[in-house]
Amino acid sequence: TTQFEVRGLKTAINGKEILKGVDLAIKGGEIHAIMGPNGTGKSTLASALMGHPNYEVIEGEALLNGEDLLEMEVDERSRAGLFLAMQYPSEIAGVTNADFLRSAINARRGEGNEMSLIKFIRQMEGTMKELEMNTEFAHRYLNEGFSGGEKKRNEILQMKLLEPKIAILDEVDSGLDIDALKVVAAGINAMCAEDRGFLIITHYQRLLDYITPDYVHVMMQGRIVKSGGAELALRLENEGYEWIKEELGIVD
Ligand code: ADP
Ligand code: MG
Ligand code: MG
Repeated sequence: TTQFEVRGLKTAINGKEILKGVDLAIKGGEIHAIMGPNGTGKSTLASALMGHPNYEVIEGEALLNGEDLLEMEVDERSRAGLFLAMQYPSEIAGVTNADFLRSAINARRGEGNEMSLIKFIRQMEGTMKELEMNTEFAHRYLNEGFSGGEKKRNEILQMKLLEPKIAILDEVDSGLDIDALKVVAAGINAMCAEDRGFLIITHYQRLLDYITPDYVHVMMQGRIVKSGGAELALRLENEGYEWIKEELGIVD
């Protein structure tokens, strides 16, 4: 089964250290949540793992089934089974959603193993229906003019079609009304499988009313400072983060 392990990850942006040694281990079948105040490095962790060029890796490893993702190009990371739903999905004018999805799927599957057009269309349309998306979104330019909620559904559409081993979902709940939140959560829950692990980054506990994490981690100042079970998210919702700072002697 899938084993994902981040060890001692340190990153910098423009020479400023942001992640100061992150350790994390996710097995297939597990849902992990990372919570934490704004600006503590949650999106940095997601982007660095995916290989965004702005995020310089200073130290550490990120092993997916024993292979170090940090040594790989972005497309190789995808092929290895890593997926990131971005907090702020990019808009790409001139590339339709369907074209984008099809090339992402074929990149993930690798040369010589491309999906037939008919199968692709069937899968895309079927998944769009599950996510209660109008199939006209297939023919629109990627994320262009999509509302916040439509962008998030579109990220989940990508995830479902790409069938990753490790899915990192960065604030996939932000900007969603309650109906969209339920659709997105159901989409994620339906993807839970023995060999698939999730890292759900969220600022609010709300999403975790619909998706029960096995582990909750708190990130502060570029480190995971506390881990627990689903009850930790509830306590954060009720009491905020001050008690953790006091407990650990963290000064802003
Ligand atoms: P979170 O997702 O936890 O809210 P981020 O990972 O987005 O936090 O940001 C962590 C820190 O890195 C913040 O202090 C932020 O200002 C800084 N940062 C993020 N991206 C950039 C960037 N492109 N240039 C400079 N600083 C950045
Ligand atoms: Mg589970
Ligand atoms: Mg963020």
